[in-house]
Amino acid sequence: MLSVEQAGQIDPWLGQSVDCVCGKSHSVSIRKVVIDSGALAALPVYAQERGYGELLLVVDKNTLEAAGRELLELCEAAQLKVSLCVLTADEHGELAADERVIVQLMLNVTSAVQAIVAVGSGTIHDVVRFVSHKMDRAFFSVPTAPSVDGFASVGAPLIIGGFKQTIPACAPEAIFADLALLAKSPKALIAAGFGDMLGKYTSLADWQLGQVLFGEPYCELAAHMTRQGLAMCVDNIDEIAAGSELGMRKLMEGLTLSGISMLLVGHSRPASGGEHHLSHFWEMRFLQQQRRALLHGAKVGVAAVQMARLYEAAAAMSKEAVASAIAERQARGDVLTPGRMREKIQAGYGSIADQVLAENGLTVLDAIDSAEQQELPQRLVERWEAVRTVCGNVPSSEQLAAALRRVAGPTTVAELGVEPELLQDSMEYAMYVRNRYTIIRLHQWL
Ligand SMILES: [Zn+2]
Ligand SMILES: [Zn+2]
Repeated sequence: MLSVEQAGQIDPWLGQSVDCVCGKSHSVSIRKVVIDSGALAALPVYAQERGYGELLLVVDKNTLEAAGRELLELCEAAQLKVSLCVLTADEHGELAADERVIVQLMLNVTSAVQAIVAVGSGTIHDVVRFVSHKMDRAFFSVPTAPSVDGFASVGAPLIIGGFKQTIPACAPEAIFADLALLAKSPKALIAAGFGDMLGKYTSLADWQLGQVLFGEPYCELAAHMTRQGLAMCVDNIDEIAAGSELGMRKLMEGLTLSGISMLLVGHSRPASGGEHHLSHFWEMRFLQQQRRALLHGAKVGVAAVQMARLYEAAAAMSKEAVASAIAERQARGDVLTPGRMREKIQAGYGSIADQVLAENGLTVLDAIDSAEQQELPQRLVERWEAVRTVCGNVPSSEQLAAALRRVAGPTTVAELGVEPELLQDSMEYAMYVRNRYTIIRLHQWL
């Protein structure tokens, strides 16, 4: 029987189904995770064991050199049939997980291909995750940099029609993370992976806010697993900053645990909250402005510092202060009604407003349940002590910034390359990226 005490390990969960303390049963579809020096060599052995005779390796021009050729040779030496799909960048020199790249990969999946291998970082994984799911092929993961927690996850964040949405797909059947390879990855990608992990402080707190205020289903096991993964990274911050194999092992294990925690509950709530909504908002704005994309984890790390600031402000407020802040807003008529939310979404999202309205249940014809809206202010006051405890457990913005600084990651929007105006817009509009309760939504009342 698996227990919460094993939440800091990966192997016990692989291929398992668990009747959880939260009342749900969870299963982890990943069967094998190899995080080790020389892990690439384990891939052909595993493919043979599973009887996959024909593989398609998916790379871009960088990962072809970093790992693709070596893996190709290893597979050929093991008598596997193997072909290559080199995804091409767009006219701006970028590779995005969008319609163009999805079709490029689909055209390369012949009827004989049994397993598709993502060799790269986040984008290549997202495209392979989606296509292997749709085309019913096995999916193997070969991360070339420890840059995101999405390797192990189910959802594929894709950009369809310029809107970033997470499409349900499948987790990899197996992950082969070669530490020698990860240790060679650019420092900025390592810092980004660390930033994606630091964001768990605020995503976990956001999830708890949903639980406290709306009785949202909450799984202590998944939350604990994410916290263990986060602790592994924070405790080994100097090794991670140095890019040592030990540091890469801890970071990759942390990222994988975060991914598995999402698999357990079947959604990204443990690992993605307001900090991810900010990051997604910045990404969509950059896309609309045809600007070069920023690293996901770099954005998440900086956004987590911003969220921690909101948490600090909330934790400093007494119940009385909250009650009077809410009363003042109501007296001014400064509250978010469905009508005002609709106006804000239209103002903040331009050409993709309809998709955002739909995400928030705010299509033109059906207004959201406004009873919930009317009750919320009173409930906030009544449950403030519990809310305040959640807020007080988030590290300070200065602590998060100091941690990012130690891995040489950006800590401010200026260092990241996001202008103050975009930050301001995102603090107002990013909460609508997902219909999910976060500190940004809470902050609207304070
Ligand atoms: Zn992330
Ligand atoms: Zn559970």
